[in-house]
Amino acid sequence: MSKPIVAIVGRPNVGKSTLFNRLTGGLVAIVEDTPGVTRDRLYRDAEWLGKSFTVVDTGGIDFASESNSILGQVRKQAQLAIEEADVILFVVDGRTGITSDDENVAEMLRRTNKPVILVVNKVEQFKGNETVYEFYQLGLGDPVPISAAHGMNIGDLLDEVVGHFKDIPNDDYEPDVIKIAVVGRPNVGKSSLVNVILGEERVIVSDIAGTTRDAIDTPFIKDNQRYTIIDTAGMRRKGKIEETTERYSVIRSLRAVDRSDVCLLVLDGTEGVTEQDKRIAGYIHEAGKATIIVINKWDLVEKDEKTMHKYEKTIRSELAFMQYAPTIFVSALTKQRVIKIIDLVNFVAEQQNHRINTSVLNEVITDAVQLNPPPADKGKRLKILFCTQAGIKPPNFIFFVNEPELMHFSYLRYLENKIRDNFGFEGTPIRITVRKRE
Ligand code: GDP
Ligand code: GDP
Repeated sequence: MSKPIVAIVGRPNVGKSTLFNRLTGGLVAIVEDTPGVTRDRLYRDAEWLGKSFTVVDTGGIDFASESNSILGQVRKQAQLAIEEADVILFVVDGRTGITSDDENVAEMLRRTNKPVILVVNKVEQFKGNETVYEFYQLGLGDPVPISAAHGMNIGDLLDEVVGHFKDIPNDDYEPDVIKIAVVGRPNVGKSSLVNVILGEERVIVSDIAGTTRDAIDTPFIKDNQRYTIIDTAGMRRKGKIEETTERYSVIRSLRAVDRSDVCLLVLDGTEGVTEQDKRIAGYIHEAGKATIIVINKWDLVEKDEKTMHKYEKTIRSELAFMQYAPTIFVSALTKQRVIKIIDLVNFVAEQQNHRINTSVLNEVITDAVQLNPPPADKGKRLKILFCTQAGIKPPNFIFFVNEPELMHFSYLRYLENKIRDNFGFEGTPIRITVRKRE
């Protein structure tokens, strides 16, 4: 199942970003801190009672270009949440009471059938506090009083949030379907590419079970392999909000990435790699999905025999955390090489499902350690006692060692490279967990 999205909506200064930090800080286990991944306060993963979800602070999206009134911007946030989120947290200020902007937004939120939780923030005094009752007037059910700043009643709020998750339809497809997400900034050519991929070569099937949820999911079959293409550009056309705000395209990508097996990260060949491209790439990487970097509009680029190589170098330095992702230079306009994308999809989908025999893996790692022993730290040396592959998609490995804190990032990187040199895993991130062997 894809990770639920919880969106925080509300006027400026009610405490949205404080709540965002409260919900996601401390609770998240950051698996790895990848250098070069652009971090964002916009969305972050959280976990409660064993359920993980993504929290989005809509206050972090700049809607100024679309509306110059505060109300207009908050309405855009609410609209985004209505379109994209699974649970909406509508935050109001328990100190100032209801404002007309609150009423206006509440009216929008009353009309959605998505779960909305009315959060009354800045309540530090719970006993005998009458002010909370005033918020019943908003017609959004029982107000939940909290203090984001002081961490009061957050557990109850989280209970209620995860309580709504069971209503989210499970949209898993059968395991033999390869799900492809097409993601990238606005205007890089995502929908043009999808049209070429679907139009050119394949039979589109419309009666595969489980595909009814989103009209933007298009199933197709090629050479007896079943695929579903998840098109974020299609979501834009379905929604009411124009994709003019670039940061917004990241949110659009979140769910598509989560539901996918393989992501096509589409870049515009006439531009370099932008911050926004890095954000989306970082999200795919952290979600553990296989990636193919598709450089589109290659027809527009004036080229000599070095151009492709130069662009490739830029990608490798700008998206340094994603060395494993293959690149392909295409044109949706002339259809050049688009047909080859599916071959690459098959290849990386196979790589992410690869399992390595434990004894072979241990031989490779033993050789690697002999060739380049771990550096000693304050007289102590890391010893790798045993390693094993614990899972696939993404391939993940557990290294049992004498002292986990002696494992440094650079040495992990070395071991990862050795694994890749020997076993491939092209296109997919690899996870390594280091554990103490008792
Ligand atoms: P946003 O604009 O909605 O993201 O609001 P912020 O999170 O930036 O908070 C606005 C102001 O309210 C800041 O000065 C916060 O310190 C304050 N604030 C946030 N949460 C609480 C709270 O639970 N209690 C009190 N007393 N102040 C809070
Ligand atoms: P999206 O927002 O990422 O879905 O991008 P679109 O598919 O809507 O494309 C944006 C614009 O770029 C449109 O005007 C397309 O016709 C144009 N476009 C897309 N792919 C190519 C390409 O390969 N070459 C050229 N020259 N234009 C392209």
